[in-house]
Amino acid sequence: MMATKHPKPDWNKRARDLTWDGQALIHGQKIEASKEIEIFSPVDGRYLYNSGLCDSAMIDRAVRSSRSAFESGSWSGISPQARASKLLRLAELIVRDHEELALRDTLEMGKPIGIALSEVAGLAPVLCRYYAECADKIYGEVPGSDGGSIAFSLREPRGVVAAIAPWNYPLANAIIKSLPALAAGNCVVLKPSEMTPGSALRFGELALEAGLPEGVLNVLPGDGVETGASLVSHADIDMVTFTGSTATGRAIMALAPSRHIRPVMLECGGKSPQIVFADAPDATDLAPHILDEILTNQGQLCVARSRLLVHRSRKEELLHELAKLAREYVVGDPLDVDTRFGPLAGTTQRNRVMSYISSAQQAGAHMVVGGRSDRHCGVLPTVLDEVSDDMPVVKEEVFGPVLTVQTFNTVDDAIRLANSSRYGLAATIWSAHYPVIHAMVRRLKCGHVTVRSTTEAFEGPGLALAGEPHRDSGFGGETGLDSLRNYTTVKGIILAGGL
Ligand code: NAD
Repeated sequence: MMATKHPKPDWNKRARDLTWDGQALIHGQKIEASKEIEIFSPVDGRYLYNSGLCDSAMIDRAVRSSRSAFESGSWSGISPQARASKLLRLAELIVRDHEELALRDTLEMGKPIGIALSEVAGLAPVLCRYYAECADKIYGEVPGSDGGSIAFSLREPRGVVAAIAPWNYPLANAIIKSLPALAAGNCVVLKPSEMTPGSALRFGELALEAGLPEGVLNVLPGDGVETGASLVSHADIDMVTFTGSTATGRAIMALAPSRHIRPVMLECGGKSPQIVFADAPDATDLAPHILDEILTNQGQLCVARSRLLVHRSRKEELLHELAKLAREYVVGDPLDVDTRFGPLAGTTQRNRVMSYISSAQQAGAHMVVGGRSDRHCGVLPTVLDEVSDDMPVVKEEVFGPVLTVQTFNTVDDAIRLANSSRYGLAATIWSAHYPVIHAMVRRLKCGHVTVRSTTEAFEGPGLALAGEPHRDSGFGGETGLDSLRNYTTVKGIILAGGL
């Protein structure tokens, strides 16, 4: 029997027909903000809509709503299994509406629609399910005690969590910022990036539909200076969780305790190395993996492997293969479902990336391949050789499709180069030599290390593996049960006496 062929959706038409609503979601109600932000699409510069810019009065209203929801026990007081079942329902609703949610992310940040669809239908529900299923796996301990007492510790939700998200994976970040907190029984006030509030606002509505009580998840669009700063410094917030740049993370570290001391979790920028030893696989096999790890999401990924550290003996052949492959890329139309590589998230982002490239060239770097493209906000995959540690393109997070190349001779050299960055998110090591791997794994200053001896595909542990950022990349972690424990506080209890 022949399979029925469905016509491909016309994403341009759907984009024209899509309606936007930039109002805040507070206690189950849509509320208009007194100020607005105009949102333009990096797809072609078109004006999309005006989203709200919430001020301190709206933040106060949202925090009071979340506080009353928390104290009512309608979420914090139900069983972890009951919370999990509502969060699992939320995952189903995201899958139901994945086309609309994906289109919002594409139009707001330029992510190719085919990739946005697989993120929203694949990654987003996986994230929801993982955190939902952790809800009943967070428990306290029972230490030994004397015969006259029983002691145990209780893990309790912290209360009202302020969650601040970036734009690079709009829906996924909204989930990663709010689901662990919700699963642990907290109420959340979520502020998405001012560049991409669309899918987060819909996510808030879906949470209501999934049965989360009013006020458990409030979503407030707005900027950093007014909305974000009012939220993290609000007196009645019990915890702040932030994902974004290191500069903003630093500002939040200063702001958050200005009224009261409270825990802060920071997931910030990265400058992760890709370390290729002499015994790494053939350059032709290796090059696609190296490019993939810098070009995913056009390099707008915190764990992008943006620094290639390669053993001197392997550099020439690898650069040759990387350049050959990189030249095959074009910046495609994000609304074409076959596009794999799209524009950057806006003109500011494109100009920022281009200024790193030109300042590196002025300082003597050699551009092996790459540069700007004609498409609106496009930057082609760029490889820069002959760079030095002190160039901004090597030291700072570019957040674009730019790979720098440095060589080493010994394991000590490789470790020195890898650890020369102030960031510490992740690293990939290509080697099958046990003593090398052992030294690298122990001495690398970062939260996630992947060691690969071949280019064979693997699935790995998914979200179950914990890993905490180091240094200017932040602290806390978002994977493994440890990430959920961060959203709880521990109470030690002694039951003394008895009959
Ligand atoms: P950003 O720091 O500019 O903004 C992030 C969020 O913080 C936005 O919602 C913004 O409005 C808000 N904000 C800005 N100033 C604020 C203030 N003073 N008080 C409170 N909130 C404020 O980051 P971005 O450009 O949106 O995102 C890109 C950055 O995010 C990159 O550095 C990237 O590495 C990082 N990131 C890290 C991870 C991770 O897991 N480590 C994941 C994704 C993105």
